[in-house]
Amino acid sequence: MNKLGIIAGSGMDIPGLKFIEDITVDSKYGAPSEGYKHFRYKDTDLYFLRRHGVKHEIPPHKINYRANIDGFRKLGVEAVVTVSAAGGINGSLCPGDIAVTSNAIDFTYGRNSTYFDDMEVFHIDITEPFCPSLRRGILYSAAEAGVTIFDGGVYLCTNGPRLETAAEITAYSKLGADFVGMTLFPECALARELGICFANISVITNYAAGISDRKLTSDEVVDIMGKASERVNSIVHKIMDNPFTPECDCRDSLKGTKITNG
Ligand SMILES: [Zn+2]
Repeated sequence: MNKLGIIAGSGMDIPGLKFIEDITVDSKYGAPSEGYKHFRYKDTDLYFLRRHGVKHEIPPHKINYRANIDGFRKLGVEAVVTVSAAGGINGSLCPGDIAVTSNAIDFTYGRNSTYFDDMEVFHIDITEPFCPSLRRGILYSAAEAGVTIFDGGVYLCTNGPRLETAAEITAYSKLGADFVGMTLFPECALARELGICFANISVITNYAAGISDRKLTSDEVVDIMGKASERVNSIVHKIMDNPFTPECDCRDSLKGTKITNG
């Protein structure tokens, strides 16, 4: 039986799966954002978590990322796919487009971003922040589902919860960012520390500040995410149709990275 985790952002649900139970997981890092919804589909156990909580009451900088990812580890999940709303910076991306993120820039601060901040120091490699095997699986599944998806894109993660200024977006564009969001870090780094395969699907829900002259509303973000979630769901179903076989070294992420003596 495969065990797959999904972390969803604003306005997404997973219909069409057999619901098994809600699971409360206790983590030594505190409480995850909500209970994990356990679904079953063919040979896959799927655990679904909304990172902002049941009523979307947890802002990006207050999410307990360590507890959320540790919860998946405790459930035995081998691969986590995250779905995020993002603002498009690259002019070729329009609201409603979906991208499988290929790299990322971290502009967050003040978040608990490692499991190793006491007694032991590890410097994990994050040259490629996403599991290449899981990324390939998503792209293959999207093709099978007939869903158009962009292969690649650099996600720049801000701290939020405010949106960006037009000047910030111009700067981020010059740094190589294709889209901007608030939740990818430390999610991806924590999964790597725990040896869990991790990949991100970003749904472009709006143009970033200054790219369009219209003011963004949160209703718009939820509306576009809702419309895109049908396509994301068909990709997720296809991922489960083709059980995930990791051909990567995510499990060995700590090998050779400990710098503490002893
Ligand atoms: Zn992997």
